[in-house]
Amino acid sequence: MLIRVVREPRPGERRVALVPRGAAALVTSGHRVVVPPGVGMDAGMTDEAYIAAGAEISDGAPAADVVVGVGPLTLDDVGPTKAVIGFLDPLGAPAEIARFAEAGITALALELIPRSTLAQSMDALSSQATSAGYEAVLLGAFALPRFLPMMMTAAGTVRPARVLVLGAGVAGLQAIATARRLGAIVSGYDIRPAAREQVESLGAKFVGGPVVAAAEQAGGYAAEVDEETRRQQQDALAAAVAESDLIITTAQVQGRRAPLLITAAMVSSMKPASVIIDLAAPTGGNCELTSPGEVVAHFGVAIHGPEDLARNTAGDASEMYSRNVLSLITHLTHDGSLVIGPDDEIATSTCVARGGKVTDERVLAALEGRV
Ligand code: NAD
Repeated sequence: MLIRVVREPRPGERRVALVPRGAAALVTSGHRVVVPPGVGMDAGMTDEAYIAAGAEISDGAPAADVVVGVGPLTLDDVGPTKAVIGFLDPLGAPAEIARFAEAGITALALELIPRSTLAQSMDALSSQATSAGYEAVLLGAFALPRFLPMMMTAAGTVRPARVLVLGAGVAGLQAIATARRLGAIVSGYDIRPAAREQVESLGAKFVGGPVVAAAEQAGGYAAEVDEETRRQQQDALAAAVAESDLIITTAQVQGRRAPLLITAAMVSSMKPASVIIDLAAPTGGNCELTSPGEVVAHFGVAIHGPEDLARNTAGDASEMYSRNVLSLITHLTHDGSLVIGPDDEIATSTCVARGGKVTDERVLAALEGRV
């Protein structure tokens, strides 16, 4: 197959979908890999490294069997191809999936990789959430006018900062682990009962709040909670929010608005110069005051709404993403071409457009305004 890497369309994106190591593996398997010049420079991958891996450097867009990118990608980004693999935002931008279908392109959305043991190596949401969770703590540490660890110095003893992490999935657990390594006093909370043990195993305190067994769906994703539970959550979290120096929020519900966990009144109760890093900003935010892509000041508290922190660790995030892409392509390739087998759960879950049609029920529902 001819596998082409796109130049990432979003301003500020520093990751690359396929690193030289991934390109080498595909070339060894008999594929051609074409990359635009300089495509990996921001992630620390030189053209020379791609050439040494057996890839071709080309500024054109030769007709491809598969185009890979980080994305989110639209039809305008990919050029001539039979298939596309990347973040495609299928539930947020279903009209773009319809455009792929109309163009006869098979679209594979990495957001929809199933959470099975077999698919773990392809799980790009998790690999990028790991980077984002780590980066959120670093961003918070820079923004905070305090040390995170306790320090005993000749100039006195400095108390450690208190960090609260709301949502203890992949990003949240990484944020907890990172904040602990930096010496902060860390607490965490999640709606799923299973999260308590994971939070505690990282040496953080689990904040008492409602946990709802039914909130855990297949694959570990959380479901939306009702208004009453949301109110109970806000009440239960109020004291922990007020005493925190740094809050990292990561709570998400797939395909829905992020749950509102911190109200404006709760922000007002925080100490001046405290910081909130809201990783759920792109899906509406966990804090009432969050504005995506901006830093909002409220009574001296800075609320950051970063849109994609994973790109900051572009080198390692690209390495992980590339392994996810390579693993998916390897899984789907039979006799030298990409096959979407009807009995292959990974293929059918991830494929959202094929044969001129949108093939995913949730995307169809979003297109028809049923959600
Ligand atoms: P996510 O990004 O969808 O959500 C982040 C966290 O927010 C989740 O832990 C979720 O429970 C939490 N959340 C949602 N609504 C909330 C609310 N109202 N209040 C508080 N917290 C709320 O999830 P994720 O980080 O991708 O993963 C969630 C779970 O899935 C984790 O347990 C993870 O280990 C598991 N997982 C399994 C696999 C696999 O089996 N291959 C892969 C990835 C993740």
